Amino acid sequence: MADRSVDVLLVGGGTASASCAQELRAAGFSGSVLLVGRELDPPYQRPPISKAYFLGESTKDEAFLPVGDDVEVMTRTSVMKLDPEARVATLSSKEEVSFGKALLATGANVRRLPIDGTDLEGVHYLRVLRNATSLREDVAGVDRVCLVGGSFIACEVAASLATLGIASTLVFPEEHPLSIQFGAQVGAWARSLLESKGVEILSGEQVARLEGDGEDVQRLVCASRRTVECQAVVIGVGSVPDVMLARSSGFELGATGGVRCSATLQTVGSPDVFAAGDMCEYESLQHGRAVRIEHHEVAAAQGRCAARNILGGDEPFTEVPYFWSDLADWATLESVGPAVDGWDSEEVLGSFASGAFTVRYLREGRLVACMTCGRGDDLEAARAELAERP
Ligand SMILES: Cc1cc2nc3c(=O)[nH]c(=O)nc-3n(C[C@H](O)[C@H](O)[C@H](O)COP(=O)(O)OP(=O)(O)OC[C@H]3O[C@@H](n4cnc5c(N)ncnc54)[C@H](O)[C@@H]3O)c2cc1C
Repeated sequence: MADRSVDVLLVGGGTASASCAQELRAAGFSGSVLLVGRELDPPYQRPPISKAYFLGESTKDEAFLPVGDDVEVMTRTSVMKLDPEARVATLSSKEEVSFGKALLATGANVRRLPIDGTDLEGVHYLRVLRNATSLREDVAGVDRVCLVGGSFIACEVAASLATLGIASTLVFPEEHPLSIQFGAQVGAWARSLLESKGVEILSGEQVARLEGDGEDVQRLVCASRRTVECQAVVIGVGSVPDVMLARSSGFELGATGGVRCSATLQTVGSPDVFAAGDMCEYESLQHGRAVRIEHHEVAAAQGRCAARNILGGDEPFTEVPYFWSDLADWATLESVGPAVDGWDSEEVLGSFASGAFTVRYLREGRLVACMTCGRGDDLEAARAELAERP
């Protein structure tokens, strides 16, 4: 016998769980809903961690996400085991909770860089709110911060640091920042924007190790032996889906490392357990294959879709994935897609020189993704075009 019973159990205290809880209530569901999250805080949005919250321009309260009325939120509590057959979850408090339906929304963890020196003082990863607070404390008064990675987090933090008047160096193996996501043309534009604001860019470099004097980080050393003196380091080299619970509970994992789900976000083999957000690998009708997306709006939309299906719907998740990234108040990049199998040509609207441009990514002549800086109408047109499929 379980210690208690709930109608819907939401595992994970992030965006996907919060939006699922809210949608359940918005749809008029009056049954019991329990949201279990292992963090100190109730659900909050992560995008401000590298932007407004880090800059001190927004507060923690502003980051909190609504969860709907009468939703029980347990913080500092992990779900340690979930038996989908018996529909019982075991919490870190040892309590056993039986459930009618459940949502797995355990998100992702930062990808750790397997090099020496990452345990030195002053080395940071960014995933939770308090990471931003401790980074902010560590960069006060330093000469230079090194950012490892050429993707969104590293570029956003470089822009935030420049806003604070702190010098930084971005180090990554590609030719340009953001080129993996958006190609060489956008990459070259992002590079010149960052450089024009004083960010130093070391491209084509692999970081070999971090060195310190005593316990504090003092320099970054590249495989080429190039070194950069710095007093803080931020590592932004991606994330990995958090499937620890899903794996130990016997859920099937897919090629992207996420929990395999149908188009309706039901986990394979356990249709009463749904998944959403960064750890959900769903059969995308739009992409024609299984995909996993790590974007805020997608996690929120999947949470809502899962809620409607928990309540008996049979709705495939067909929303066109949308993502945005802010480089300080200099530029907001927005995209729809993504081009999961790559692209073979790019069509540019507007001009990079003016700072207002759109890139349409095509594969065999067909639109697969689109990004824009300052031309929202182009993005909406691309979103509509992508939504028409299949
Ligand atoms: C610094 C940063 C900036 C970002 N900026 C942007 C942006 O500008 N635009 C954008 O689109 N996206 C951005 N993202 C990505 C976006 O935040 C994520 O896609 C989104 O948070 C995913 O939501 P989620 O609910 O799947 O997972 P999460 O928000 O990661 O929530 C999962 C939660 O589950 C908890 N958990 C894990 N296992 C258990 C367990 N067994 N029991 C209980 N709880 C558990 C975790 O601790 C975590 O709190 C950013 C991410 C970061 C880290």
